[in-house]
Amino acid sequence: MKLPYALARRFVAGETLDAALPAVRDLRANGLLVTLDLLGEDVADRAKAEGYATEYIRILRIVASEESELPPNISIKLSMIGQRIDRAFCLANLRRVLDEAKHLGGFVRLDMEGSDLTSSTIGILEEVYPDYPDNVGTVLQAYLHRAEADVARMCELNARVRLCKGAYKEPPEIAYQAMPEIRTNYKQLMQKLITEARYPGIATHDDELIEATKTFVRTEGIASDAFEFQMLYGLRPETQRALVAEGFNMRVYVPYGTEWGPYFTRRLRERKENVWFIAKTFFQR
Ligand SMILES: Cc1cc2nc3c(=O)[nH]c(=O)nc-3n(C[C@H](O)[C@H](O)[C@H](O)COP(=O)(O)OP(=O)(O)OC[C@H]3O[C@@H](n4cnc5c(N)ncnc54)[C@H](O)[C@@H]3O)c2cc1C
Repeated sequence: MKLPYALARRFVAGETLDAALPAVRDLRANGLLVTLDLLGEDVADRAKAEGYATEYIRILRIVASEESELPPNISIKLSMIGQRIDRAFCLANLRRVLDEAKHLGGFVRLDMEGSDLTSSTIGILEEVYPDYPDNVGTVLQAYLHRAEADVARMCELNARVRLCKGAYKEPPEIAYQAMPEIRTNYKQLMQKLITEARYPGIATHDDELIEATKTFVRTEGIASDAFEFQMLYGLRPETQRALVAEGFNMRVYVPYGTEWGPYFTRRLRERKENVWFIAKTFFQR
């Protein structure tokens, strides 16, 4: 049974790009940067995967026309453009998207999915990076034991990284499970990325990590525009605006589309307050 979109409205800006654009404009008017994400994952059908690559190109063009003074920025999942079908096919689809991003001076973030796709995503990034160094970057997840080595590799490449905790359920053999350990690793990786990598994205709603980042850049005398904070649409909007008022760059990840189920479930799993919010919305309808 498909749940009504009204339930997801807090986290998902619309079911179509047209429906999501007013939210984007509103964020922009408040000084926030935006990355748009067309929801979906794990596409098994070639025609559908090609269609998503074409759709990403359309989104880049529309965002470029909306934000004439800012480079268009989108976040994509490789599993939507063929990563689970065939590597060469996925690469060809990705190159089509990146050609357009390069043409428009835009940026495409390769979101990170479950750990079965980590090596493949990093390998694909490494392969395309030399041709599109200003137009592509990926995401590293601080809960993974391997993240330290991956951060070192991305610093070597000088690639743009978004650092997050990680949103998938991973086993203890490969991932820290306890929040204090994840936070400790996050802080170490954040410091390395801010000092050694190009313009990292510090993606978190966690005050402890936001404060650690602010303290680190202040102590090290690092300019506030050497990195950006990132948060998800609908989460902590007042904190998003407060960080902008303090002089930091803040990018909001704005998801839209009809395939919002898995994204919505990950948000509910993360915080019980999110479940209460949704329950309240539901009973007030
Ligand atoms: C821009 C962005 C992009 C992301 N991309 C990816 C990706 O590609 N791959 C991936 O695996 N994951 C991604 N994530 C998700 C990420 O991995 C985490 O699952 C998610 O951000 C939750 O972790 P957190 O650090 O934000 O805070 P949490 O661990 O959820 O919360 C920690 C603490 O932060 C505070 N807090 C959190 N939320 C709120 C709130 N709404 N209101 C008040 N206080 C709050 C509370 O004190 C809470 O105890 C992304 C996250 C962001 C922000």
